[in-house]
Amino acid sequence: MKKIILLTSDGPQGHDLAKQLAILAHQQQFELTPIFGFTLTDFFSGFMKKRLQIIDISMDEDPLVYDKVHPIHTPNHLYVSRTHTPLNFRPMVIPIRHGEELINAFPEFGEKNSNDELSFWLDRKLPEFVHQRQSFVPIIGRFLDMKRISEERKNEIRKEGSIFLSYRSSENQSIATLASQIESKYGKRCRFFAPGVISHEAMSRMRRWNLLSLLDRYILSADQIWICLSEDYFYSWWTFGEFLMAVHRQTANAIGHKPLLKKYRNGALEEWQETEWPEITEAEHRRISRYFAFCDSFQMGPEAFISHEDIQNLKLKFAEGYYRDDVWKKDFWLNPIVECPVCRKRSGPYNKRPIEEFLWHGQQKEENPAQQGIVYRGNGIMEIDYAAMPSFLDQGITCRCGHTITLKKGPMQYLHVFLPPKSQVPFSAARELARKWEFPEASVIGNNLIAIQSFLINED
Ligand SMILES: [Zn+2]
Repeated sequence: MKKIILLTSDGPQGHDLAKQLAILAHQQQFELTPIFGFTLTDFFSGFMKKRLQIIDISMDEDPLVYDKVHPIHTPNHLYVSRTHTPLNFRPMVIPIRHGEELINAFPEFGEKNSNDELSFWLDRKLPEFVHQRQSFVPIIGRFLDMKRISEERKNEIRKEGSIFLSYRSSENQSIATLASQIESKYGKRCRFFAPGVISHEAMSRMRRWNLLSLLDRYILSADQIWICLSEDYFYSWWTFGEFLMAVHRQTANAIGHKPLLKKYRNGALEEWQETEWPEITEAEHRRISRYFAFCDSFQMGPEAFISHEDIQNLKLKFAEGYYRDDVWKKDFWLNPIVECPVCRKRSGPYNKRPIEEFLWHGQQKEENPAQQGIVYRGNGIMEIDYAAMPSFLDQGITCRCGHTITLKKGPMQYLHVFLPPKSQVPFSAARELARKWEFPEASVIGNNLIAIQSFLINED
């Protein structure tokens, strides 16, 4: 019998999960060993052994669980969670369809999973491990193996749906119907994202590129990208972003898989001629790559900020531009962006504006005469000072056109800041980052987690 280790919390939820998993593991010829209230040592010692580890990273019973894990993603690590994960601790796993529902190993931001859902997901996931060779590979080998793992992940996404549907959420009613029509007509599965909490979230630039980099992984893994062209398609930063990423993947100097770009309008499918694509300059391609390097859930490293000043002080001539980049600024990571719907209609669709307006890079910022603490990053696109958010929660955000948008607090978001302790001196990477960002003490959870308040836009 193959062995599985379950690392979970020592509470009713952890014990219930272990009970459910023991039954389904047994049915699939596995032997499950639970470790309740596990430690960082348990996590790493499982890593060194030839064992499949299921790691419960829910924060509901163990708020300090992120002090006990490190974002290592190998085929032998299955992370599951009832609570949403930090922005940079996103296991790249594929949801499984259950009737109309999609069930994943961890919930989307602001949502929750139950143990039943986790068991459902694991029950379908475990057979993949029956034939998998569980071999000992030294840690260094694992890291060298990242390319293969990333290929495997791409293939896994590909299996799930080879047509990526990009659409405006106003079309949501018909998108599920369209997907099933396409599936029966072409025999290909479709992938699309249903709108959730994130569609109301006032996101920082980092968070926007964090999500766009996730979408980009799906775009890159698809065979075809269908742009469902509704009247308002290009009025949204998001849908234009999906379209632009598809073009970026086609035209950037990268070799490898390039998905076909098609437009779907009024029930008809057309090829999208290259001559009709927007022209992305070399500098813009590089800008997109820089954003992805900093914001992608897999490689984002907020701990780099801790040594950022020290490196800057070295005054390395060749790195000067790099360290002055927007991505190193606190504003980029924290300040929410709010778009005024009135001005958005007036500014016209994104595909008729310079790409720079979409990238928000190197722009001249403009003060908002209506309210302090707000600068414009385009017509009606307001960047709000994170520190001033409490007062904006009371009075709302007033655009210079006179329109007011009101916000409320959303669920907490988390960043996992991990630096291995160098000495016996207790060290909290999260506390160090919070100090640099001038965050209140309450934002630090344990040694490795920093909590960021999210804000949701009230719908009119
Ligand atoms: Zn406005």
